[in-house]
Amino acid sequence: MINENCYKLGAEPSVIRSLFAYGLQQAALVGPDKVYDYSLGNPSIPAPAAVNASIMDIISSMDSIQVHGYTMAAGLTDARKAVAEDLERRFGLPVKAEELFFTCGAAPALISVIKALAVGEDSEIMLLAPFFPEYVPFVEQNGAKVVIVPPDTSSFQIALDKLEALLSPRTQAVIVNSPNNPSGVVYSRESLEALAALLERKGAEYGHPIYIIADEPYRELVYDGVEVPFIPCIYKNTVVCYSYSKSLSLPGERIGYVYVPGFARDSRELYTAISGAARIMGHVCPPSLMQLVIGRCAAERPDLAAYDENRRLLYGSLTAMGYECVKPQGAFYLLVKAPGGDSMAFSEKAKLQQNLLLVPADGFGCPGYLRLSYCVAKDMIERSLPAFKALLD
Ligand code: PLP
Repeated sequence: MINENCYKLGAEPSVIRSLFAYGLQQAALVGPDKVYDYSLGNPSIPAPAAVNASIMDIISSMDSIQVHGYTMAAGLTDARKAVAEDLERRFGLPVKAEELFFTCGAAPALISVIKALAVGEDSEIMLLAPFFPEYVPFVEQNGAKVVIVPPDTSSFQIALDKLEALLSPRTQAVIVNSPNNPSGVVYSRESLEALAALLERKGAEYGHPIYIIADEPYRELVYDGVEVPFIPCIYKNTVVCYSYSKSLSLPGERIGYVYVPGFARDSRELYTAISGAARIMGHVCPPSLMQLVIGRCAAERPDLAAYDENRRLLYGSLTAMGYECVKPQGAFYLLVKAPGGDSMAFSEKAKLQQNLLLVPADGFGCPGYLRLSYCVAKDMIERSLPAFKALLD
């Protein structure tokens, strides 16, 4: 017998992956320069030179057993110290190595935190639409229920009234992703402060904390000097899930962390439960080489010039043609309103008529919109513009 849930998830084709596969197939038929693939969020800028230099230096100068051996489940203390110092320096709050737990990226970080907070069949985790679609299986397959807060399509900030109406004594946490995938919006300080005040008040009323799970793989990917408030500085019951997949262009190396601030309610117990959840999943001791690299490169930041150029080009060109787009302030996604209103139909038409691969945002809790990942070559954007125009015409 085979687990039905696992089978269903494995068999279900992901819309993004299907579009990507279609793109590869079409590229072989019509040539790669005639396929415009905006499907995947795979970084297109190289990892900082310091990262590659560290890898080379670590491999050539350190003992191989140490470089490739197991580490403690939570990760190397020196590497966690380096991350703690970087966070402390940037955000002005006390961070200790013991509050950090290294993970294989943001996905297992999120799952460990969700699992640690799923206390019964009724536990609810709130998702703010639009949201990263993988949150749904992360929550549903780890003992909790998903509650979706519909989007505020006027600003794509947090829809606080809708959220308040959906809060209940069963609410354990709210996942907050900013800069946001798929909208590219950065939640403002004002929006986050209002959310913090509401959760504080409701937590007191229900007699238990409502945690914010801050999913932050795009924390440093921000343009025009927009502020990305660090949520633990605004709301103490926050757990941060971070990844170097996007910020250091290392998605295949699988490295990130969970940060449970010492001042969060039941901080030590929660940290211990997170490490237990990681143990259940076998997600302990992420790649040792990458931990060593992060120990040396915790303060490295990406050069965003190429993404910013793409962002300006795509946003400027599409809005000039008449497309309605949410102005992205961060990450590398652009959310576009589907002309005609049916995102599935528009995506299919774009694919079949123009080899233009746009992801319908229905799975992101935002039907009627399309997500474009602009972590691509600039000349692909330039070549794709007539296809966008032809679809509108
Ligand atoms: N959270 C968001 C919002 C993402 O967009 C992604 C990946 O695209 C993840 C989490 C997972 O990231 P990782 O590669 O670190 O597991």
